[in-house]
Amino acid sequence: MDSKTKVIVLGGGIGGLAASGLLKDKLKQEISVQLIDRKKTFDFPPSYPWLMLGMRKKEQVQKDLDILRKKKKIEVLNDEVLSIDVEGKSVLTTSGGRLSFDYLVIALGVEYSPETIPGFSEHAHHIYDLESALKFKEAVETFDGGTIAIGISRTPFKCPAAPYEVALLLDDYYSKKGIRDKIKFAFFTPEAIPVPAVGPDVGNKVLELLKSRGINYHPKLKVKEIKSGEIFFEDGVEVISYDLLFCVPPHVAPEPVRKAGLTDETGWITVNPSTLETKHDGIYAVGDVASIKTPDGYVPFLPKAGVFAHGQAEVVANNLAIEISGRGGGKAKQKKEWNGQGACFLEVGKGQSAFVKGKFLAKPKPEIEFHMPGKVWHMQKVAFEKYWMHHWF
Ligand SMILES: Cc1cc2nc3c(=O)[nH]c(=O)nc-3n(C[C@H](O)[C@H](O)[C@H](O)COP(=O)(O)OP(=O)(O)OC[C@H]3O[C@@H](n4cnc5c(N)ncnc54)[C@H](O)[C@@H]3O)c2cc1C
Repeated sequence: MDSKTKVIVLGGGIGGLAASGLLKDKLKQEISVQLIDRKKTFDFPPSYPWLMLGMRKKEQVQKDLDILRKKKKIEVLNDEVLSIDVEGKSVLTTSGGRLSFDYLVIALGVEYSPETIPGFSEHAHHIYDLESALKFKEAVETFDGGTIAIGISRTPFKCPAAPYEVALLLDDYYSKKGIRDKIKFAFFTPEAIPVPAVGPDVGNKVLELLKSRGINYHPKLKVKEIKSGEIFFEDGVEVISYDLLFCVPPHVAPEPVRKAGLTDETGWITVNPSTLETKHDGIYAVGDVASIKTPDGYVPFLPKAGVFAHGQAEVVANNLAIEISGRGGGKAKQKKEWNGQGACFLEVGKGQSAFVKGKFLAKPKPEIEFHMPGKVWHMQKVAFEKYWMHHWF
């Protein structure tokens, strides 16, 4: 019988890819790592805004997860996670049946619930998964004038900058196409200012960017219902008309996580912010599925972003490696604490990007740096994409 410590990583997105890869790098044949994802590929969402404009092809933003089997000896299972038994330490999947673990890293991201808003699925486009981004690309290409409504249906949602990026990139796209004067933009959101997690100074800078491009901003509006050509809001007063609609879908925690009782009143898995441990021994949660309170922050919870999923996965892999073998492998000899640092690009078109960097758990307030749009930040976003498409595979 195999006596190796068994680690199961649920989800082969940003957090799961980093956690499983780093664990294998550190402990190699000392442990068995199973990585389970319903998709056969790792898809890179930060490139979807480029995909939507035809600046990337599908195959440029996807990698075959099975490469990890050959390269890193990770046991990659293309399977659906049905349930998690937190007491019995096992996971039930569609094809693989019940799989037991010593340690579990949950990196299942979010599930979308468009059905909770009448008319959403029929009328709204988005780029919150690869196939939807490709569908939106077709709509963008054929659109030849009218009102484009761009908005956020509910908070929290992942990558707080992404919908703003969509608006600014579309403005640039239609300017280059020579039809910008035939198009009006309306941006709606339940938020009071753009990207509230980074504070009002940065929010106001984003607002200025929108204004400078003629994009009308409608804050504090929560979508109630979408009909053909019109969006209705919970205030019962405002109605926005559209010819093309982009809307971020509502997010919820994935079903197996909810069914396992891992979520709480936040709707997500509350973790220890330093170690990413859940309330169950040996079970960790990283990335979008996790919820981290920010009592000193501008918003009550840490936003959902890949950069956090990555940093958290590094800490979990390091600490698990030490716990499992008494050493961390490589230079890591000590347990680490996650410190809430992160950075994000805001593509604005014209080959430029703005850049925000911050210590989101700093006291008494998050420490945030904002860099105005420039070509250098755009080049760094391209390098960020290259890193994710090559480093782990
Ligand atoms: C348009 C867009 C732009 C973005 N830009 C940025 C950016 O510039 N910078 C940044 O930091 N972040 C960005 N993000 C956010 C970033 O992509 C996410 O925060 C990040 O992917 C979260 O990582 P994760 O590992 O928690 O979840 P994910 O990467 O979403 O991975 C979850 C995985 O779990 C799998 N899964 C879920 N349920 C099951 C199940 N039941 N069975 C089997 N498999 C399952 C999914 O298939 C998926 O592969 C962007 C997101 C979008 C949509």
